[in-house]
Amino acid sequence: MSPWASAPQDCRRCPPLVESRTRVVNGEGSCSSGLMLLGEAPGRREDERGEPFVGRSGEVLDEALTGLGLDRDDVRISNVVRCRPPGNRDPLKSEVGNCRSYLVEEVSVFEPGVVCALGRVASSALLGRAVSMGEALGRGGGASFGELRVPLVVNYHPAATLYDPSKRVGFDDALETAIELLD
Ligand code: URA
Repeated sequence: MSPWASAPQDCRRCPPLVESRTRVVNGEGSCSSGLMLLGEAPGRREDERGEPFVGRSGEVLDEALTGLGLDRDDVRISNVVRCRPPGNRDPLKSEVGNCRSYLVEEVSVFEPGVVCALGRVASSALLGRAVSMGEALGRGGGASFGELRVPLVVNYHPAATLYDPSKRVGFDDALETAIELLD
């Protein structure tokens, strides 16, 4: 049985997302490394397969993790919103808020030592303020998940490295920073 047996399967808190999604996409991975990666919301491929980061962004993520000596299965990968927004728009603040209790529960089950936020939307949601990637990349401080406070590192969204390959070095470096914090 999954260590998170009560993961939501049929949430109806956001009616527009209930319309746009095929299914709720919960996180996956064991978190045995202590690292949790959090993106913004599932895209088309994730919605089809019911797994986070399995499209082109996921390929970037997998490659970067392998390059840093980590297996995807040893990392917990999830999103701040679990349903695909219509037309792939950014999730709304209200949708992040509606999904929050699931994330707090997921963090309490998997107890990550470090969270790496992937992209501006996830970083802003987790830090509770507007984040400018230029200033925050590779930093963050900490984020609260209910009673738990977890060190957080801000990173680019992997898709950003596909639009602008010059961001790949910064992406890999910020991921490495997050992994080093685990030691
Ligand atoms: N982008 C995200 O933010 N999350 C996913 O799961 C896939 C793409």
